[in-house]
Amino acid sequence: MRKAWENHIRKVVPYVPGEQPKETNIIKLNTNENPYPPAPGVLQALKELDTELLRRYPDPAASELVNAIAEFYGLDEAQVFVGVGSDDVLAMAFLTCFNSRKPILFPDITYSFYDVWADLFRIPYETQPLDSDFQIRTEDYMRENGGIIFPNPNAPTGILKPIDEIEEIIRANTDVIVIVDEAYIDFGGKSAIPLLKTYDNLLIAQTFSKSRSLAGMRIGFLLGNPKLIRYVNDCKYSFNSYTMSQAAIRLGTEAIRDRAYFGQCTKKLIETREWAKVEFQKLGFTFADSMSNFVFVTHPDYAAEELFAALKEKGIYVRHFKKPERIRNYLRITIGTREEMEALFACLKQKIIIDR
Ligand code: PMP
Repeated sequence: MRKAWENHIRKVVPYVPGEQPKETNIIKLNTNENPYPPAPGVLQALKELDTELLRRYPDPAASELVNAIAEFYGLDEAQVFVGVGSDDVLAMAFLTCFNSRKPILFPDITYSFYDVWADLFRIPYETQPLDSDFQIRTEDYMRENGGIIFPNPNAPTGILKPIDEIEEIIRANTDVIVIVDEAYIDFGGKSAIPLLKTYDNLLIAQTFSKSRSLAGMRIGFLLGNPKLIRYVNDCKYSFNSYTMSQAAIRLGTEAIRDRAYFGQCTKKLIETREWAKVEFQKLGFTFADSMSNFVFVTHPDYAAEELFAALKEKGIYVRHFKKPERIRNYLRITIGTREEMEALFACLKQKIIIDR
């Protein structure tokens, strides 16, 4: 029986993250983590972490990390906001920026946290269908709205939208905030960062979870004009002053300082992705041309669910989304190391060619 107090509870249907299996001898290609370790400086800083500092509260402004991010991108530190992964900074951006009665717009097939935050914060929204090739249609974002958010490249399709089309959307919506979620931009995409000079309604979200191998540390950031960043900070300080741990501030700073290692890791990953695309093609898979660290594949002769189960049985975890219906027959496969991908293809070959 429903209790009377339940009438006053905020009820939400939460986001379900990808599985994090407890076993260690598996190949994990289901949550878009980076297969390479964090930069050497991160591991060194972890060893040298001053335990005396753990006794104290961290710097609420996380200035060391904010400065390092600003320096990396050639921006002013007033243009940077940091948080506990991009999930945290995006939630804060929704809370700060989307307060219109008009619906916010985002694609129907996209990061499945957007509708969860909209529901949580009671933000009206309308999803815009991707076209038959899974592309975001620019013209769908030319109508009246209370704000816009989409990832570039989109997830889980991996498709990159050209920067001139991104600009078209930002330019047509200067009365609202347009958030470009660039979680996967470092794997060959062109960032919207240069557009910050021209548009004060643009907010960019990025993360240390993918290209900087720090998903476990939880570091994300927003880039925007100083006034907008101040508004986001006001909301953050009204919620939780100390979002960034001492460890996250220190290790994140070391991660972003090592440009050479970042360049090597992303280059290796892109090479493996391009080789993997050829291998998928040889096995009869079709997929959109991904510019991220995953590929979204489907096979004409095999149900995605069946392939998912066959891979899991061999200890290879990939991601299968049961909804929306249009993507039910797809698998989102994270690009791992070359060796991990070879194991994946050996298993798929067994299923598709040998056991046929
Ligand atoms: N945006 C997109 C499009 C994502 O796929 C993810 C990863 N789940 C995130 C944001 C959040 O990543 P994190 O919180 O680890 O920075």
